[in-house]
Amino acid sequence: MLTPVSRVVTGTFMITDTSSPLNTHPDSHVITIIDKSVLPVAFFERDLCARTATCLGVCAENAISLDENYYPVLDEKRCTACGKCREVCPGARVDFEKLSQQSFGISDDFTFDGHCEEILVGHALDPLILEKATGGGIITALAIMLLESGEVDGCVVTRMRADKPWMGEPFIATSREEILTSAGSRYTVIPLNKTLHTIRQQEGKYAIVGLPCHNHGLRNAMAQDEVLAARIKVIIGTFCGGTLEPVVVPELLRTKNIPLDSITNFEFRGGAWPGQMRAVFKDKPPQAVHYSNYKDGAYNYLIGIYLPRRCQVCYDGSNLFADIAVGDAWTRDESGKYKYNSQSRVFVRSDTGKKIIKKAVERAVLKLNDVTQDPSYKTHRMRTQRKGLNAPLRHARWQKKGIPVPQYDRPLPHASNREKLSEILISMFLWTGQVPWLRYAITKTLTSRAMIPLIKLRLWRKKRKYLKRATSKG
Ligand SMILES: Cc1cc2nc3c(=O)[nH]c(=O)nc-3n(C[C@H](O)[C@H](O)[C@H](O)COP(=O)(O)OP(=O)(O)OC[C@H]3O[C@@H](n4cnc5c(N)ncnc54)[C@H](O)[C@@H]3O)c2cc1C
Ligand code: SF4
Ligand code: SF4
Repeated sequence: MLTPVSRVVTGTFMITDTSSPLNTHPDSHVITIIDKSVLPVAFFERDLCARTATCLGVCAENAISLDENYYPVLDEKRCTACGKCREVCPGARVDFEKLSQQSFGISDDFTFDGHCEEILVGHALDPLILEKATGGGIITALAIMLLESGEVDGCVVTRMRADKPWMGEPFIATSREEILTSAGSRYTVIPLNKTLHTIRQQEGKYAIVGLPCHNHGLRNAMAQDEVLAARIKVIIGTFCGGTLEPVVVPELLRTKNIPLDSITNFEFRGGAWPGQMRAVFKDKPPQAVHYSNYKDGAYNYLIGIYLPRRCQVCYDGSNLFADIAVGDAWTRDESGKYKYNSQSRVFVRSDTGKKIIKKAVERAVLKLNDVTQDPSYKTHRMRTQRKGLNAPLRHARWQKKGIPVPQYDRPLPHASNREKLSEILISMFLWTGQVPWLRYAITKTLTSRAMIPLIKLRLWRKKRKYLKRATSKG
């Protein structure tokens, strides 16, 4: 039964089928009136859509597909207005308390790191995995172990598409070889949860590797559907400082005059750790598209102009509701050098996660050190600031201005005037990303030779900062 029409949306989707249950208007053939209470956020506030495709994954009528930028599109002929897609959507609302209770049976602690049973740092022991992975290859090694030991029949992971190698896609890997192709971070929007559709249809046990927003949608879907809850055995997650709009790769390639159709793959962190963004070709070596490494000059700047609107107000940076969450181990020593090259930081959050990690260490799949009690091993300040401070401040500012924001049940943290000003300045830079010519001009500059001295200057300043810190401690 439909509730009264609550919002008029133009240009989102057209209800042209007079027999559609969504079609509540008398002059139906050109009308775009929908009952927003039954649809997920993409159909009434597109900017709030995280493009998780959870709505598509749970739709039993196949009424939702995705457009070329991975936004959901509704087939009104198929939609029965059941509202299931709306229920699982993590775009408009994240209920931290409910998700925390559902995942671990405890209350949300309001912190960036969230509930952790153990904090570890380490890497996979298989050199092939280490070579292909982004950090310590923890996720790839765990996925292979779970599959080969028969604990799961399939792992939901990602890769770049064969038809459009500049776009990412999810898939269900069922062999070591397939898992190996998924190794590495893809800093681009990937509609991971569309695979729920297959999991619902195909009996078996599954592991899922996703970003925080994917896992919010996933937990919602598991709460809604007991078949999914029974089949999904473990949720592994990556940290997330934000993904990049899919247009990032075509624009990066354009700065180097690399035709889109000449690449066979795109690596966001290819080559030696911490990696570089590289175009991969069929018959010549990969070509880097910028002069810095990934960390000191690529992602940290590109995120300023390609960060999707939904990510700008996202609070979850550490994958709070995964059984095992894995992030980069960026900790530096006193001379400013990274302490944990080719390693990852692992947050073990649940008993399921603990058992898996224990097994991985016993079977010599992973080498891990316990850093739970190590005070120097705190989450990188930049990460906590981005998600734990700037995102909430932006969220509050947008809300005040009447700009649609997701609903969260977390309080606004205290911030000084300086911190508030800093968030506004960062938001101004983020705004430049909305203007395609300006965004491209900035990208062209960031990837040009002109950046080389600036990158060197940045590294020198970093080194000096750490040395100063060490001297003042000594
Ligand atoms: C968009 C994004 C943002 C990130 N931001 C941060 C950050 O700010 N701070 C931080 O410490 N770490 C961040 N990470 C995590 C980090 O880059 C590594 O993924 C993590 O440390 C795991 O390393 P690993 O070597 O164990 O993973 P690997 O063994 O290399 O495995 C990586 C796994 O991630 C999956 N994956 C890759 N891209 C995506 C994607 N877009 N969506 C869903 N799954 C994906 C792959 O399918 C694979 O299973 C981010 C990762 C991504 C994808
Ligand atoms: S479920 Fe995901 S893809 Fe669907 S509308 Fe919500 S955020 Fe967007
Ligand atoms: S920043 Fe948040 S919404 Fe954006 S990709 Fe990461 S987890 Fe998803």
